[in-house]
Amino acid sequence: MKNLVPVNAKIIEILRKEISNEIFSILDEKYKFEPRGNFQNTAIYIAKPINTLQVSKIMINANAIGFGVVPYSGGSGLVCGQISLKGQPLLLSLERLDKIREFSPVSGVVKVEAGVVLSDLKKVSKAHNRQFPLSLASQGSCMIGGNLATNAGGVNVLKYGNARDLCYGLEVVMPDGKILNDLNDLKKDNSGYDIKNLIIGSEGTLGVITAASLKTFPLTNNVVALMSVNTTREAVKLYSFLSSKLEFSLHAFELINITGIKFLITTGLIKTFPISTSKNWWLLVEVGGAEQGDLIESFQKLLSQASALKMIDEIIISQNSKQYNDIWKIRELIPEANRLVGSVSNHDISLPLNRISAFIERAGAEILDISEELRINCFGHMGDGNLHYNIFPPAGKSKDEYKFYQREIQERVNNLVHEFKGSISAEHGIGRLKREELYKYSDPIKLDLMKSIKDLFDPNGILNPGSIFL
Ligand SMILES: Cc1cc2nc3c(=O)[nH]c(=O)nc-3n(C[C@H](O)[C@H](O)[C@H](O)COP(=O)(O)OP(=O)(O)OC[C@H]3O[C@@H](n4cnc5c(N)ncnc54)[C@H](O)[C@@H]3O)c2cc1C
Repeated sequence: MKNLVPVNAKIIEILRKEISNEIFSILDEKYKFEPRGNFQNTAIYIAKPINTLQVSKIMINANAIGFGVVPYSGGSGLVCGQISLKGQPLLLSLERLDKIREFSPVSGVVKVEAGVVLSDLKKVSKAHNRQFPLSLASQGSCMIGGNLATNAGGVNVLKYGNARDLCYGLEVVMPDGKILNDLNDLKKDNSGYDIKNLIIGSEGTLGVITAASLKTFPLTNNVVALMSVNTTREAVKLYSFLSSKLEFSLHAFELINITGIKFLITTGLIKTFPISTSKNWWLLVEVGGAEQGDLIESFQKLLSQASALKMIDEIIISQNSKQYNDIWKIRELIPEANRLVGSVSNHDISLPLNRISAFIERAGAEILDISEELRINCFGHMGDGNLHYNIFPPAGKSKDEYKFYQREIQERVNNLVHEFKGSISAEHGIGRLKREELYKYSDPIKLDLMKSIKDLFDPNGILNPGSIFL
């Protein structure tokens, strides 16, 4: 991390004169903590520009004066990429760049500014008889700029891909203030290096995304099923069975553990669970297509076959939109239940699908070996090989009392992920919390290339200092 000038009242005065009086202020409460409330932002001042030109001017001044800038959209990031933990950079909120610039009825391409809230874009798409399929439990607060900067995943990656796969082009303010205009809507563009895809997933370290050109898709009729399985081995078998039969109709394949359901009930987030909770593992499977009638029938048939083959146990399938929403609510509320219970350690990992159940068994034994008291809530986007592997204190105890286990848990889980040829960050990114792991487990050539790219884009190290790189 380079030596940077702290943003103080004198610098804010200069910025007010150079750019606008209105857009700078002292950080208010909303921006002080990350979603889990464990870390506090060290920034004191915030800028809320209203257009791309103002973002550009901020970056020009940051370079001239030598202060750091941390991009901030919805603030829902889970690895402290959006808040500084050291120094006094300027927090750059993109929330006022919130316009839908264009919606093409012919191509379904929508051009939006970075501060558009994901759920708002979903509503606008629906009003155009289309859907924007990125779906996260944080969609009421996260914004398109943040989604692209983190290459967000969520529950529909199986069918539609990550945020990266939904983007045709970007408008980006580079660290020196220049504006890269690549806001195209081309399906095919092999004219040189794909800079857009370097910026997507760079977590605000290579450029500030100010607008994006995004894909929308025709609406589908979806049904969702909730079912219990005895072991995760059966869950993987079921995935393989369904994906070979359903191919593009399989939209989501989510794993839920009994611990997650108990958390939902003890925190009061759900009152009852629709089917018996005698099993340890549950799956939420969504299929979608143009014709709902045919789909329900063929889905039901496949699930009966899977049941006859003893892959699954109890099943319920949504018959209407209320049941559909109620089933999804169970999965979507798990992160909130986890937050309320308070975790000792969180892991957003991905694994090769054929090794996922072996990993769950080995990791369970490792945690048990650390302490028999700890509770594991393992859930996530199983069809993508993505698990959220979170560790909790015993019932009635606080996370702080068990924090001393954190380092050992992290080391054992991450070593195991590495041994199983997985990734220590599947969808949340590196931010300021996973830097050591990135350095420890990455291919050294990849890491060197990443550092060279960062130096090339941002030679003064002013954009998101302290994030990704040590
Ligand atoms: C309850 C809950 C559920 C979640 N579920 C999922 C999930 O299923 N899948 C998933 O992938 N994530 C999930 N997340 C994490 C988070 O919502 C995503 O990472 C999201 O994409 C972050 O968007 P944001 O607008 O909140 O970005 P922020 O938190 O504001 O920022 C995230 C990162 O992007 C950078 N950034 C923000 N805006 C810009 C910009 N315009 N230009 C350049 N850099 C920028 C920031 O500096 C930071 O590094 C979840 C979080 C919560 C709290």
